[in-house]
Amino acid sequence: MTITDPAAPARLTSRVTASEDRPTMPVHSPLTGAAIGAVPRCTGDDVITAVRAARDAHREWRRVPVPERARILLRFHDAVLDHRADLLDLVQTETGKSRYAAFEEVADVAYVTRYYAHTAARLLRPKRRHGALPLLTRTVEYRLPKGVVGLVTPWNYPLTLPVSDAVPALLAGNATVVKPASDTPLSVLRAAELLDEAGLPPGLFQVVTGSGAELGPPLIDSVDFVMFTGSTATGRVIAERCARNLIGFSAELGGKNAAIVLADADLGKAVEGVTRSCFASAGQLCISIERVYVERPVADRFVELFADRVRRMRLSGELRWGPEMGSITSAAQLDTVTRQLRDAVGKGATVVAGGQARPDLGPLFFEPTVLTDVPGDATLAREETFGPVVAVYPVDDADEAVERANDSRYGLNADVWTGDPKRGEAVARRLEFGTVNVNEDYTASWGSADAPMGGMKESGVGRRHGREGLLKYTEPQTVAVQRLLPIAPPRGVSQAAYARALVAWSRLLRRLPILP
Ligand code: NAD
Repeated sequence: MTITDPAAPARLTSRVTASEDRPTMPVHSPLTGAAIGAVPRCTGDDVITAVRAARDAHREWRRVPVPERARILLRFHDAVLDHRADLLDLVQTETGKSRYAAFEEVADVAYVTRYYAHTAARLLRPKRRHGALPLLTRTVEYRLPKGVVGLVTPWNYPLTLPVSDAVPALLAGNATVVKPASDTPLSVLRAAELLDEAGLPPGLFQVVTGSGAELGPPLIDSVDFVMFTGSTATGRVIAERCARNLIGFSAELGGKNAAIVLADADLGKAVEGVTRSCFASAGQLCISIERVYVERPVADRFVELFADRVRRMRLSGELRWGPEMGSITSAAQLDTVTRQLRDAVGKGATVVAGGQARPDLGPLFFEPTVLTDVPGDATLAREETFGPVVAVYPVDDADEAVERANDSRYGLNADVWTGDPKRGEAVARRLEFGTVNVNEDYTASWGSADAPMGGMKESGVGRRHGREGLLKYTEPQTVAVQRLLPIAPPRGVSQAAYARALVAWSRLLRRLPILP
C-alpha cells in the first residue's frame, strides 16, 4: 500500500486548531492496522479558541457578496477534482473502503459545492413578501447568516459529511468549526488545506480533533447552529444540549433501510442495484439497505441470483480501481457485525452468502453477507447493523412489503424495484422514509442535490441538500416598511368603523383570492 503523498498525514496535523502542548491520538488504517498519523487531542479550550477565531473571521465574511463567496468555492471544486488521486488515497487509507466508494465522496463534494455555488445567490436573495396592507406595507424577507456553525461528523464518510455540509453554511455567510470522528480526522484536514488554497479567508473553516463527549459540550455551548451526523443515540444528547442553548440544529441519524422487490421487476437489474445498495462502503453507509422484502413468486429466484452475485464480489484493500468492497473501518464495528450475525444465526437465520471474517485480506475484513429466515426477535431484524449484512424476507404482496418496511422506528432511505415505474412511485409515496429510489440505489436520491435529503422518525431532524440544506444556516429577517397611512384607524374614523372595514375587506378577499 503506497499513498500518493506519504507526507500528508504529518503535515495535515498542523491544520488542527490546538494548543501546541496537546497530547496526540494515533490514527490507524483499518487496511493494515498500522498507525498512519496522529492528531492533537484537543480540549474545551481549543474549541473555544476555534469558535472565537471563526467568529472573528465571520464578521468580514458576512459582508462578502455571495457571488464572490461562490467564486472561492468553485475554485475549491476544481482543487478537489485536481487532487482527487491523493484524496482517494487518504479516504481509502483511513476508512478502508474501496476506491470507487471513496470516489463517491470526492464526486459528492464536487457536485454539492458546484450546486450550491450556482444556486446560493438566488436562494439568499431578498424576497418581496405580501405586506400587511397591500401597496402600503412594503415587506422584504432577508436571509442573514447564523454566525458560527458547528459540524460534528462520523467516520463512515469522512470527506463528504463534514465538507458537503459545511459548504452551504459558508456560502450563506457563516464560519464553521468541524469536529470529525476520532478514527478518521485526516480527510477533512486535507479538504481544509484545499479550501485555504482556493482562497477561503483564514479562520472560516476550523477543525478540532478529539473525543466527541469532551469537545461536544463546549462546541454546542459556543456556536450558533449545530449540524450533526451520527448515531441516533448521540443525536439525542446533542439535541438536548442545543435545546438548552436555544439554538437550532439539524441531525442526520441512523437507519434500518429497506428495499422492496416487486414480482414484475427485472431481477438482473434488481440484484445488481440491491448489491450496490447493501455493500457500498461495506454497508457502513447511513442509507445502505439492510432489509429486502421480495414478492413471493420471485423470492427464491431473487435469493439465488443475489447470493450468487454477492459470493462473486471482489474484496480488496488495495488503493486501485476494481475491487467492489473494502474493509470494515473499526474493530468496534466489526464486533457489532459479528455479534449481530451470531445472534441472528443462533435464533434460526440461514446464511446464504458470506458470513465469515477475512483476516487473510486485512485485520477488519468481513464478507458481504446475505441472510434468510431471520426471526423477528433477532437484533438485526430491527436494529441498525451498519455493516455488510442484509436480511431477505418473502412477502405476499406490495401492501405487506410497505407495512413491514414502515414498521421501524427509523425512516431514512428505501428502494423499490419494479417493471412499472408509475407503480414504483405509488409504492414509494406510501413509504415513511425521507428518500426513496425507484429502480436505482441510493445514488438517485442522494445525488439529486437539488432535493432535500434526510430522515423521518428517529432517523433525523431537518434536511441537507436543496434549499433546506442552505436556508437552515440562515436567520430569516422580515423588514416591513409602512407608507402613507398607519395600520390603525385614520384620524376621524372610529375604531368600530375601522374594524367593520377590515371585516368587509377580509370577506372580499375570501371570495377573490388575489391576495393570501
Ligand atoms: P456517533 O454518534 O458515535 O459519532 C458521531 C460523531 O459524534 C463523532 O464525531 C463523535 O466523536 C461525536 N460524539 C460522540 N459523542 C458525542 C457527544 N456526547 N457530544 C457531541 N459529539 C459526540 O456515530 P458514528 O458511530 O461515528 O457513526 C455511525 C452512525 O452515523 C450510524 O448510526 C449512521 O447511520 C449514522 N450516519 C447517518 C448519516 C445520515 O446522513 N443520516 C450519515 C452517516 C452516518
